[in-house]
Amino acid sequence: MSTIFTKIVAGEIPSYKIAETEDFYAFLDINPLAKGHTLVIPKKEIDYILDAEDKLYADLWKFAKKVGLAVEKVIPCKRIGITVIGLEVPHAHIHIIPINTIYDMDFSKKKLSFEAEEFEEIASRISIEFNSL
Ligand code: 5GP
Repeated sequence: MSTIFTKIVAGEIPSYKIAETEDFYAFLDINPLAKGHTLVIPKKEIDYILDAEDKLYADLWKFAKKVGLAVEKVIPCKRIGITVIGLEVPHAHIHIIPINTIYDMDFSKKKLSFEAEEFEEIASRISIEFNSL
């Protein structure tokens, strides 16, 4: 059975797409900690990120860097926080989160919600920046 993120990549479940390559996909987190909270995944189904073979692992982080730089251009913040949790969805993913304080990385706090139009607008602006890098 495929993961929820594989279904997103296949377009079976909708997502607010930021960027896509042959091997990777980036999209907005549906329950974000901050505006612009983005998930970066390998298309290949790997549960635990440390099980990824070296090249895929390195290329994933390279792709995530570009996504982070694009998010930073759109969402005002002090830094982009980057983390891996992976306790909820068994498909490796990197969280890219605009932060101003350490508390902005607190995954136990209440998540934000946005209207579809707002998600679309954020994704579209980040996507434009990604494509210009
Ligand atoms: P983790 O596995 O790193 O603990 O958390 C998984 C993340 O995926 C959470 O931040 C959650 O909001 C996000 N997430 C779970 N299901 C979906 C989904 O169907 N679509 C999107 N865009 N994000 C999801």
